[in-house]
Amino acid sequence: MAAARKRLVEQMPDLATILPGSLLSRMVRCNKAGCQHCEKGKGHGPIWILSVSLGNRRVRQVPVPREMKKEVGESLLGFAQAQKLLKQIGELNIELLKERKRRR
Ligand SMILES: [Zn+2]
Repeated sequence: MAAARKRLVEQMPDLATILPGSLLSRMVRCNKAGCQHCEKGKGHGPIWILSVSLGNRRVRQVPVPREMKKEVGESLLGFAQAQKLLKQIGELNIELLKERKRRR
């Protein structure tokens, strides 16, 4: 079990770059007269938004420039991966605690 825990710890992503939340996309309208994108189409975009739940139904939305989208996506995956690993390591540590109690 200790070896399994070591493997989980080694899978931990670089915590310096993790980001919580999720990426949303949205079309936007420029409201310029005669704009074909807005008058005949769905508008401009998509633009990307990092949406982070703050609890109490409050959400923080941060626009993400197109060239940063890939990096932000990887940071979101890092956060999810870290959360998953923390949960698994915690569960293993409960089992290891029980084992130590049995052995003393
Ligand atoms: Zn437009």
